[in-house]
Amino acid sequence: MSEVKISWWEPTDRERQWLRRYTSSDQHKCAATGGYCNAMFELGEADVLYTKDGYIAGDRDNRKPADGDHRWPKACNACGRPFGDDDPHQLFGKQIYICEATGERSTLDKVPVGGCWDAWWISERRREGPTGSGYMVGPDHRSLVVKLPGNHDWHIDSRASNCTKPDEREHSCWVRHGRPEDGTLHVDKNGNTCAAGAGSIAVPGFHGFLHHGVLRDC
Ligand SMILES: [Zn+2]
Ligand SMILES: [Zn+2]
Repeated sequence: MSEVKISWWEPTDRERQWLRRYTSSDQHKCAATGGYCNAMFELGEADVLYTKDGYIAGDRDNRKPADGDHRWPKACNACGRPFGDDDPHQLFGKQIYICEATGERSTLDKVPVGGCWDAWWISERRREGPTGSGYMVGPDHRSLVVKLPGNHDWHIDSRASNCTKPDEREHSCWVRHGRPEDGTLHVDKNGNTCAAGAGSIAVPGFHGFLHHGVLRDC
């Protein structure tokens, strides 16, 4: 990657769904992964369920098929151990996002490098509250995330690991300007900030800047 334009992704009211079986690792360790045994069957797309407050509902039990449904996975994907009747049956969902500029749709784990979205599940709760890295909320009361190479998610409004003012919540370790929607998103150290870095972002395999709507490695 040398440079990539920021693209803006908005949530839809649709999600991708899977039928998931798993065991919790305190009962059992997967012989292949050392974690929990896990398997998923992809169901396809469906409407996202919302609670009265507008949050995505966690309780999906009344929408999942009966435990005896033949589509539930029978055994762990990694080690082949059969699931028992007591292992959980979970209707697993991931919200679908859309890039209006291209019409492309994706879940957030698969958006391309340079994709940007608002982590509304953080910022909705902060709409009236203070802003700054200590709250994970930026000056426009959003929590913006940018997809980096290696499928790393950069929470621009979060605290940098090398923040020099860890007890001060209202500054921004990365100061952002402009908007991702119109190609002007820009991140630097020009504002109420700390001494960490120069406004760049470093993750394993990538170190770069987001200037004038373009993510560029350095
Ligand atoms: Zn297993
Ligand atoms: Zn800081």
